[in-house]
Amino acid sequence: MKSSNILFSCFFLFVYVNFSALGQEVKFPWPEGKKMALSLSFDDARASNPTHGIPLLDEYGIRATFFVVPQSVKNNLEGWQKAVVTGHEMANHSIVHPCSGNFVWSRNKALENYTLDKMRAELLQANFEIENLLGVTPTVYAYPCGQMYVGRGQYAQSLVPLIADLFVAGRGWLAEAPVDPLYADLAQITGIEMDNKSFDQVKAYIDQAAANGQWLVLAGHETNESGRQTTYLETLRELAKFAQNPESGIWIAPIGEVAAYVQATRKAMADTTNLPQLVRAAPDGKLHLTAENGSGVGPRIEYMPDWRAFGWFTGKDQVVWELDAPRSGTYQAILEWSVSDEEAGKGFVLESEVDAIRGRVERSGSWETFKTLSIGKLNLEGGYNKVVFRPEEDFGSVGALLDLKQITLIPVF
Ligand SMILES: [Zn+2]
Repeated sequence: MKSSNILFSCFFLFVYVNFSALGQEVKFPWPEGKKMALSLSFDDARASNPTHGIPLLDEYGIRATFFVVPQSVKNNLEGWQKAVVTGHEMANHSIVHPCSGNFVWSRNKALENYTLDKMRAELLQANFEIENLLGVTPTVYAYPCGQMYVGRGQYAQSLVPLIADLFVAGRGWLAEAPVDPLYADLAQITGIEMDNKSFDQVKAYIDQAAANGQWLVLAGHETNESGRQTTYLETLRELAKFAQNPESGIWIAPIGEVAAYVQATRKAMADTTNLPQLVRAAPDGKLHLTAENGSGVGPRIEYMPDWRAFGWFTGKDQVVWELDAPRSGTYQAILEWSVSDEEAGKGFVLESEVDAIRGRVERSGSWETFKTLSIGKLNLEGGYNKVVFRPEEDFGSVGALLDLKQITLIPVF
């Protein structure tokens, strides 16, 4: 707890009441202070894309993402090659467009009859053919029919890890919420339908994304005046005009570009941003419960980016971590903390659902000096655990328990 923060304490108290259970509010920085990102995408390499949609987008200098099936690209190779020249992104949508056998047209290529190795081979084949036809290597994928599995029942498997391995991003279909750039799994970015919609209908999604600083990924098929599975040219024109107006505060770019930006920005922010998330063991088996991946819960507790630690740790505050333990057993707990000599000595508890460590916060020298020490052994169940660090007794809202940077759990089986 730093004295310079005292001025803000009244303000923070108000904020904490609202956000303490959800973590602090963190704003994702879009380029040039833009409010949101927008990507337009079109699936299947439909005939009306090179003839109608792409020339319209080119008029406004807007680059979109086209999830192409190589066989369909061959129907108008010149048109698709031109689209590459004007900067549109060519992306992977598989070779044969397999979907559930519930679609009668997909019964002979049903996802229920696929395996992960067959899918991997076909996705690499699609990349290879797109490279040969268009001279670019896809970095993003759209799940045909938005379906993210192969197999059925007890043999069903998720396609998501495969897509995460092969691509920067994977897009779904018929979603309802835009992508949260800090939170989203890039292998499962949401795609919202823009086919057969007026500009006003699409604008409602844009407003929602702008209000929340999100990334809206719109998905369509044909680009024409009318027809089934068609993004109307009129809608597209109004959308292009709106997105190009600087006052709209929209960064419009292909999915691969936005995904790469999101990935790099998250990486740069990771060390100093509190984003509570499930903790998994590092390759050496250690579980790092950091201030960045824990949830500060309580009336005053605050993540302090400058110190990469939780501060303002009063009698009613605690930090909660969710973790996936590699196995049941005993873990050595190492605490990294700081505390002023005046505040040192209060009792703490580190507890899992099956065990607890109790101790006293030892002196570290000052609030600015962090110290690392073993505090004992903690048993965990294998798999999901919730671990809490809290004061042993509620000492009220005056004073603080400690500033908490990290607890490392080292398996000692
Ligand atoms: Zn498709």
